[in-house]
Amino acid sequence: MKTMTFRTRRTIVAWLQAALLLGLPFIRVHGESALRFDVPSLKLYFFGSVLWISEAYFFLLVFLFFFIGIMLFTVLYGRFWCGWACPQTVLSDFSTALERLASGFKTPRLVRLGLSQALLASFSIIVAASLIWYFVSPYDMLADITDNTLGTWTFGSWLFFSVLIYLDLAFVRRKFCATVCPYARFQSAFFDDKTLTIAFDRARAEECQDCWACVRSCPAGIDIRDGLQVECINCAECIDACGRQFEGKTNAPLIGYFRGSGSSVQTGARVRVVGLSIALAFIAVLFAHQIYVRVPMDFWVFRDEPQSFRKTDDAGSIMNAYSMIVENRSLNPGVFQLSISGVKDAKLVVFSNPFLLPPDTSIKMKAYVFVKRKNLTYRATQLRFILENVESREIRIEQEAPFIYQEQTEQGREI
Ligand code: SF4
Ligand code: SF4
Repeated sequence: MKTMTFRTRRTIVAWLQAALLLGLPFIRVHGESALRFDVPSLKLYFFGSVLWISEAYFFLLVFLFFFIGIMLFTVLYGRFWCGWACPQTVLSDFSTALERLASGFKTPRLVRLGLSQALLASFSIIVAASLIWYFVSPYDMLADITDNTLGTWTFGSWLFFSVLIYLDLAFVRRKFCATVCPYARFQSAFFDDKTLTIAFDRARAEECQDCWACVRSCPAGIDIRDGLQVECINCAECIDACGRQFEGKTNAPLIGYFRGSGSSVQTGARVRVVGLSIALAFIAVLFAHQIYVRVPMDFWVFRDEPQSFRKTDDAGSIMNAYSMIVENRSLNPGVFQLSISGVKDAKLVVFSNPFLLPPDTSIKMKAYVFVKRKNLTYRATQLRFILENVESREIRIEQEAPFIYQEQTEQGREI
């Protein structure tokens, strides 16, 4: 059976990637985007969870995980990412396919050129929109377009990225990989003698027919027989080209995926792989632990200042007022109960207790605490405010704020 060419395999991967990236923003979990960073509220919606910017350590862990993951991937698989998944390569391949489509029309050359540019521009607009959808819900954006109410920032960003992507696809494409891409530059520093690379099999160099098919097929315009070069984007076109020269023969093509140089299999421990794997596993465990112990709510209490004590009619009770911010960080409504401890017989008054908070919202509220004078030993006593989720009592947070009173002299002076 004829084996599938690398071009076909890469095309399948590119379409799957396009379907995933275009479709993901449309998937909703608990009524919110599966994956989106909401700029106005600075929240990350992540498959049914919502991370608030105040939980920035999650973002740091995710960043570290990806950074170390990329290093490990590079040590193991070299430039595999560049040829198979990098958006620059995938978009360049789609652009070439669109140009090929336009050139198939039997029209004057100028019309074909115009058609090709129109297709590229439309493609750029779609790609830019899919990028924006990771920041603005596609449902909201499409509704705003229909109603002609698209915000200036959203429209401006869409326009900016459309133009940028169009210029990239029309004039830069793979030149980016050889000239600007920082990843291409630092990759070589991570390679060891067992990294997966596309290479020419030097052990069989005498079998080369010098047909130059590999060079002609190379979009980067290099000769892989000269060894690994920074311009190589790992597209595997040269493997297919050499394979065609060896069609019907029992010998394998001279170009292929190798670990290390040539066809010699490399063995032995790899210090970088072991070190990076341990670091990656540590961050993954830390992240999983943080997710596990994460409490999907938070609250802050501030004693209202300036504020003197206030005696109430309630047989010598003293009242302090507090402001609170309560956040429900889950995508489900939550019923919360507030209580206090730290002072004997302290009475708490809020607008409603327990109270309901809609999903993914925060409220500001007032709380008033009444304490009998005889139960106060010091002028300032730490009060503990406890917020519990009524449905699952183990979800609770405690915050402290002072309860303060002052005596007044007959002249009204506070002491
Ligand atoms: S040498 Fe050229 S054709 Fe071969 S993988 Fe690299 S960029 Fe592609
Ligand atoms: S395609 Fe294969 S046989 Fe032809 S020049 Fe390149 S390596 Fe040699």
